[in-house]
Amino acid sequence: MPQHIIKHLPHSENALNSSLDELNVGIELWDRRHQLLWNSMDGANGNGGKQHTDPIEAEVFGAGVANAIKRRCLKNPIGKGSLQQLPGDRWIKTFEVRAPNGHLLVVRVNVTALVRQGQLLENSNRRLNELSVTDSLTGLANRRCFDDVLLSEWQRATRNQTDLALVMVDIDHFKKYNDNYGHLAGDECLRRVADVLRRCTRRAGELASRFGGEEFVMVLPGSNREHALEVADLCTRLIKLEGIPHIMSPIAPFLTVSAGVACLQDHEAQAPSDLINASDAAMYRAKSAGRACYELATTRDWEMSPQTPRTTSAHEQGVQHQTPSPP
Ligand code: GH3
Ligand code: MG
Ligand code: MG
Repeated sequence: MPQHIIKHLPHSENALNSSLDELNVGIELWDRRHQLLWNSMDGANGNGGKQHTDPIEAEVFGAGVANAIKRRCLKNPIGKGSLQQLPGDRWIKTFEVRAPNGHLLVVRVNVTALVRQGQLLENSNRRLNELSVTDSLTGLANRRCFDDVLLSEWQRATRNQTDLALVMVDIDHFKKYNDNYGHLAGDECLRRVADVLRRCTRRAGELASRFGGEEFVMVLPGSNREHALEVADLCTRLIKLEGIPHIMSPIAPFLTVSAGVACLQDHEAQAPSDLINASDAAMYRAKSAGRACYELATTRDWEMSPQTPRTTSAHEQGVQHQTPSPP
C-alpha cells in the first residue's frame, strides 16, 4: 500500500465516521472467516462507541473494496434489505453485500424516522378510509358503504344461490319530533336508533347502515324470510323499549319505527335495486297500516315501479300487516 494513503487513513476514517454518523448509517466489514475487521461509529444502533478492529485492511476497505462492491452491485443489486425493530420503537434496515474476495460489508441504516412517517401515513389512510364509509352522525355504515356491500352480497347470493334479505327502517313522525324537540335532539335520537339497529344485526356479515335522513337499512346475507322477519320484529320492539319520549306522535307517547322486509327467496330479482325497492314499498305499507309495525314485501311490492308514489292509497289494497308484540 502506498505510504501516502496509509498516512491519510486515520484522518479519512474520522471523516467517514462523522459522515456516517450524520447520515445515521453504520457499517461493518467482516472477512471470510467471519472476523470483524472494521465497525464504524454505530449510528444505527445508537451505541455511540467506536469499535474498530485493527488493523484496518486498507487493501479491502479502500479503493479496492469500493470498486469490488461497485462491480458486484452492478451485477447484483443490493436488494431491499431487511427491516428490524429495536427496543424503544427504533428501526434499522440492514443491507449485506459480499465482495468477490469474500469480504462481507454490512450496512445498517437507521430508518426510524422513515418508518414512523410511514406508520403515520398508514394510520391516516386507514382513518380516511373509515371516514369514507361511515355516517358521521350515527357512526353506522353510510350510504356508499351500503351500496358497495349490497352489490357484493347480491353478487355472492346470485352466484351461490344463497339467501339475502333487506330490512328498511324509517322513524315514525320524525318531522314532528324535530319540530317539538329541536334538530339537535333529533340528531341524538338518530344516534340512539342507530345504536339499537346495530345491536339487531348480530350474525356475521350483517350490516346496519344509514340509508339517508331518518331511514336505515339492514343487509342480511344468507338470511331467509324467518330470520329477516325476526330482525324486523326485534328492531321495532327494541326501539319501543328504548322509550324515547315523543309526545307529539299520534300513535304512541314514545318513538316508534316502521319497517319493510324483502327476501331474495320470495321473488326473482334482476338487480340489487329491486331488493331496495321491494323493502321500501313494504315499509310504506307498514306506514299505511298504522306505523310502529313491519311488513314483508308482497308480489305487488316487488313489482311496483320505483316511480310509483309510496302513498297510503297506493298500498292499501290486500294488506296483511304484522304488528310486533308489545314491548
Ligand atoms: P313518517 O312517519 O311518514 O315517516 O313521517 P316523518 O315525519 O318521519 O317523515 P318526513 O319525511 O315527513 O320527515 C322526515 C324528517 O326527518 C324531516 C327531516 O328534518 C328529518 N331529518 C332527516 N335527516 C335528519 C338529520 O340528520 N337530523 C335531524 N335532526 N333530522 C333529520
Ligand atoms: Mg322517511
Ligand atoms: Mg319517517
